[in-house]
Amino acid sequence: MLDNASLMVGIAFSSASLMAALLIGWLNSRQESYLVHGASGIGLIVLGVGIMAFRSDQYNLLVTLVPYSLLIIAFTLIYSASRLFRTARPRRWPIWMIGGLSLVALHVSFLLGYSGIGTIVLNLSAGIIMLLCAREYWVGRREAPVALSANTFVYGLTALSFLACAAVLLWEQSWVLTAPADNWAEDFNSIMSLVGLTGIGAITLTLHHARAARRHRDEANTDALTGVLNRRALFARFPEIDTVHRVAVIMFDLDHFKQINDRMGHAHGDLVLQEFAQILKAHLRDRDVIARLGGEEFCAILPGLDQEQARHAAERVRLAFAALDMPIGVEGGVATVSAGLSIGGGTETFSSALSRADDALYKAKHAGRNQVQLATLRLVA
Ligand code: GH3
Ligand code: MG
Ligand code: MG
Repeated sequence: MLDNASLMVGIAFSSASLMAALLIGWLNSRQESYLVHGASGIGLIVLGVGIMAFRSDQYNLLVTLVPYSLLIIAFTLIYSASRLFRTARPRRWPIWMIGGLSLVALHVSFLLGYSGIGTIVLNLSAGIIMLLCAREYWVGRREAPVALSANTFVYGLTALSFLACAAVLLWEQSWVLTAPADNWAEDFNSIMSLVGLTGIGAITLTLHHARAARRHRDEANTDALTGVLNRRALFARFPEIDTVHRVAVIMFDLDHFKQINDRMGHAHGDLVLQEFAQILKAHLRDRDVIARLGGEEFCAILPGLDQEQARHAAERVRLAFAALDMPIGVEGGVATVSAGLSIGGGTETFSSALSRADDALYKAKHAGRNQVQLATLRLVA
């Protein structure tokens, strides 16, 4: 089998290439700060493990304490990366407190001459931090169940290997070490570090690419101003020739929007559009589909509702929007919306239901605006 120094060199090399891959990933999407934290953590592992590979068998304080400290800082950075992966703005102090306390315990033990206790502290800290990382990926596993469960497993196993090293030293009551510990747990830990780093690295890169692909897809489907779906996304979900049975289609068009722009400015017009989209999101169900078709025209698709229920939903939106009291530049005038509603029936296509809703919207505009009109029944040939 491989000797310990060769394993360490292996770990250092695999970590270095992993660090490069993570940094390249970060250069391509700077907002993913977890990649930098992960890469810096791995960089410090390379440094620490590199020093350990070339130290002699004699237990020298400096060449032991320096790499151990680097490892604790490295694990703390990797924990920070796992927090950043799951939460965009995690609280930072608990992360650094864990790392800080571990460092203090490590230094106190070594400086008092208890190199064994110091080594136990290192392994315990590493084990606990790896378990905390495992927890982060487990809690967030919904995003990518297989990859994140695999990540949890690898972190968990790595944690176990560190905890085993601590347990063996505790069991043997090795409070003072004169040479680096050498037992089955250390071998397990070296192998696990190599497997763990490679596995975690591969999974992290996969997750990063999946996330980037999802973000691009979302951006392509979302209306940048209001955050609802855009026209393309709506027709991708409801192809025009698909039948829509018992699906309510509501077309909304803001009233006198051109005047709002002309009198209050384009920026205010944009704000009115955003507020209206918020009202749609707040007053419709999660399963309802909301899209901006263009300009000040929105479409909502409400599956499973009959005409009365859908009319109520449209009325709720209309009243809530008027209640916002957004000025339109005329004394006392507020922004309002008109709506047309159709219920797809039988073998009707989406395009037909949409066009009936559009006709009803036209009726609402002609009847004085700020109202909901129902579509005429579909003529069945
Ligand atoms: P009606 O009550 O009959 O619907 O009249 P309207 O003025 O709302 O309708 P019209 O179609 O004449 O005007 C729509 C205006 O919407 C014209 C266009 O400048 C404005 N518009 C389109 N897109 C945007 C946008 O993204 N932001 C802003 N602020 N205005 C927009
Ligand atoms: Mg309009
Ligand atoms: Mg319009």
